[in-house]
Amino acid sequence: MMTSSQVALQVVQQAIAALAGWADPNNPLTSKLNFVEEYPEVTRAKEILGWKKDTEVGTLRLLFDRVNPSDELKQETSELHYHPLMPIDNDNKEYPKIPYPLNYEPQEEQKAFKEKIKKEVLESLHENWENLSLLMLILEKFGSCLSFTESDVALVDMNRATAAVAVALFDNSEAENISLIAGDLSGIQKFIYTISSDGALKSLRARSFYLELVTEEIVQQLLEELNLPRTSIIYAGGGNLYLLAAASNKTEEKVKQIQNEFNNWLINKFQHKVFLALECKTFYTNDIVNKNLSSHWNEVIHQLNKQKKRKFYEQINNLLAVRDSFGDRCRVCYRDDTTDLEQLNTEDDSILACPTCREMFQLGSQLFKTKAVVRSRHNNISSKSDADYIINNSHYFLFNQLPTQQIQNDETLFLINNWKIKDYHLPHSVPLLLGNYGQESFENQGNFIRAHELAEEAKGIKRVGYLRMDVDNLGKIFAKGLGDNHTLPRLAGLSRQMSYFFKVYLNSLAANRKDTLPENHKILTNDKNQKKFARLNLLFIYAGGDDLFVSGSWDEVVEFAFDIYQSFRAYTGHNPYITLSGGISINDVKYPIYQAASDSGESEKKAKANKRDSLCLFGEVFKWDEWLGQTNVSTDNIKVIAESKLYISKKEQLGLFGILPFVDKLFNNPDLGYPQSFIRNLLVTAEIQELALKKAKKEEINDIKYFLHLPKLAYTMSKLPQKLRSHEDFVLIRQSLMSPYNAPYFPAIATWIELLTRTQA
Ligand SMILES: [Zn+2]
Repeated sequence: MMTSSQVALQVVQQAIAALAGWADPNNPLTSKLNFVEEYPEVTRAKEILGWKKDTEVGTLRLLFDRVNPSDELKQETSELHYHPLMPIDNDNKEYPKIPYPLNYEPQEEQKAFKEKIKKEVLESLHENWENLSLLMLILEKFGSCLSFTESDVALVDMNRATAAVAVALFDNSEAENISLIAGDLSGIQKFIYTISSDGALKSLRARSFYLELVTEEIVQQLLEELNLPRTSIIYAGGGNLYLLAAASNKTEEKVKQIQNEFNNWLINKFQHKVFLALECKTFYTNDIVNKNLSSHWNEVIHQLNKQKKRKFYEQINNLLAVRDSFGDRCRVCYRDDTTDLEQLNTEDDSILACPTCREMFQLGSQLFKTKAVVRSRHNNISSKSDADYIINNSHYFLFNQLPTQQIQNDETLFLINNWKIKDYHLPHSVPLLLGNYGQESFENQGNFIRAHELAEEAKGIKRVGYLRMDVDNLGKIFAKGLGDNHTLPRLAGLSRQMSYFFKVYLNSLAANRKDTLPENHKILTNDKNQKKFARLNLLFIYAGGDDLFVSGSWDEVVEFAFDIYQSFRAYTGHNPYITLSGGISINDVKYPIYQAASDSGESEKKAKANKRDSLCLFGEVFKWDEWLGQTNVSTDNIKVIAESKLYISKKEQLGLFGILPFVDKLFNNPDLGYPQSFIRNLLVTAEIQELALKKAKKEEINDIKYFLHLPKLAYTMSKLPQKLRSHEDFVLIRQSLMSPYNAPYFPAIATWIELLTRTQA
C-alpha cells in the first residue's frame, strides 16, 4: 500500500533530480525517474504550483527585494539582489557563513558550485535514494540559494510546498479543499523570564530550549496522528507552527484532541502559564498560489488570537477545582501548589525549588555539551543517552555525541545545528536549528559562562548587558508584504530566511565576527584588540523566529547589537521596510534577572515608539542611523536629521556625525591623552541640559535643545590643555561636537565612554 511518505519522497526525488540535472546534465538520475509512474497527487500538486516538466533550476533572486507592506509604491528604487551560490555548511567550522546578497547575478561562480554538488551530493545518493530526511537535508543545504519555477522562489521552498500539497491530497488527488493547521504557544516569555536567582542564566537558557522541544512535540504528534511526513511542516519554531493537511473532519477532530491533551499537560507542568492555541482552516486548494492565501493566513492568526483570549476554556473544570496552597513557595518561580520542594543544587546555601525548576536547572547544566536529541515513545532506546526528559508522554534523550546505533522507525533523531550530510545516514535524522551561541565558563569548564564572569570580563565598569531585539512590523510583512506574489512557496521562503537569520546566522556572527560582518560595517573595537574583537563573552538565552534575548559582558552586548543590525540589513538587501528595533539594559550582577528582562523589554518598546528602526541604550532612544553615524558628511546628505533641519537652518559639513564615530575617535585614540575630567564635564553638561529642558515650556524645547548646551561645552573645551586643543584629531572632535546637529547625541557619547573607562567596579 502506498503511504504519504512515499508521495513526499517522490516529490523530493524529483527536486533532487532537478538539482542534479543542473549540476551535471549527464547524470543518470533524470532518466532513472522517467521509468517511475507519477502519483496523481504529485501530478496535481505540481500543476497547481506551476512545476512543469521542463522547469529548470537557476540562480535565485532575493525574495526580500519583493517585500513592501506599505500601501505606497516602494520609496527607493532598490537594486536587484541575488543569492550567492554557496551551500549552508559547517563542515570545517562551527557555524555556516552568512550569505549576504550580491548586486549582480552570479554567473562565473556556477561552475565551482556545480562541481561541489557533483562531488558532495551525487556520489552520496546511490545508497540514500529512499532516505527522505537525507534528501531533504541536501535540498535545504544546496537548494536554498537556487531558484525553481520563479526567479525568487527557492528550490527548497518549492519542493516543500509541493510535497506538502501532494500529501494533503493523499488518496484524494482531486480534492477541492485543503487545510492549514496553525499553532501558537502563548505565555512563553512569562515562563522563560519570570524567575529569580541562582544559576539563572543557564536556567533561562534551559527553559527556552525546553519550549523549543515542546513545540517540536506538538508538531510530532500532529504528524503522527494525521499521518504526515515532515515535508508537511511549513514552519515550526519558537512556539509557532504551520502545517498543511487534508481537509477533513478527521483533521479537525485530531487537531482538537491534540490541543486538549496538550493543554491538560501544560496546566500541570506550567500552572496555567503556557497555553496552546491550535486552529485548522480549510480553503480552496488552488488558493495556495494566489492572493487569497494571505486572507486565509490572516484569518487563522485571528482565530488563534481569539483562542488565546479565552484560554483553557476547555479545561474550565480543572481551573475551577480548588487548588491547594501549601504556603511554602518555590523560590525560583514562586508557585505555592506543591509540597515537593527540594534544594536546587548541592551548595549549602541552595534555595528550595519545585520539580519543574529543578529539572530546568539540571537541563541547563547539560545543554552546553548536547549535540543530538532522540525523540521516542519508548522509555528505553538502543544508544546510551546522557539525559532523558519527558514531554507529554514522549521521551527526549540528550546526547553529547552523535548516537551510533540505529534508531527505531517511530523515533526521530535531531542533530543540533548540524549540516554535515555524512551525519544524516541514519533514517529519521533531522536538523534542529537553534540560536544557541554560548561562551564556556572559565571557572567551571563544560558549562555555560556565569553572570559574574560576564561582568568581570567587561571593559570599564563591571556589568552584565541584556539585549532584546526583534523585526519591526513582522505581522504586516507576512500579512501583506508580498502583495500579489503571496504564494505558499514564497511565504515559506520568507519565514525560513527570516528564522535562519536568528537561528543559524546569529550564531555565526557571535562566534566569528571577523569573517561574518558585512562589507562597509562600522565597529568600535577593531581587530587590533584580539581578545575583545573575537567577542567571546556572550550567552544567548533565546534566538529564533524573529527575535532574540542575549546576555553578555555589557560592552560586547552593545557592540553585538550594532553588528546584528548591520548584518541583518545587509542580509535583507537593505530593504527600507525590513528593520530591527532593540533595547539594552546594563545591570549589576546581583540585579534580578526577571527585572533585567523586563527593563530591556521596556527599552525595546521605547525604540519601537520612536517610529521603529531604533535602539534604546543608556536610556537614550535614537534611530540606528544616528547611533551608527557617519564621517565627513554634508548635512544635506543625512536623511535621519530631517527634524533637526527644521530648527537649524544652516547647512554644514560635519567631520563626525552621530554617536559611534565620536566614541570611536575619543576611545580608540590614546595619543590624545585628554583628562578624565573632560568626559565628566561632558556628562555634567548633559545633565544640566536635561534639567533646563525639563523646566522649559513644551513649545520652546525644540527651539533651544540644539543650542542650550553650546556655551557650557565651549567653556569645557577651552579649559583643556593647549596641546590637546590643537591636536589634529581633537580639532575634528571639537568642531563636530560644537555643531548643533550633534547636540542630541552627546549625553549618549559621554555615557558610553564613561562606562568604558570607569576603573572602579
Ligand atoms: Zn518553581
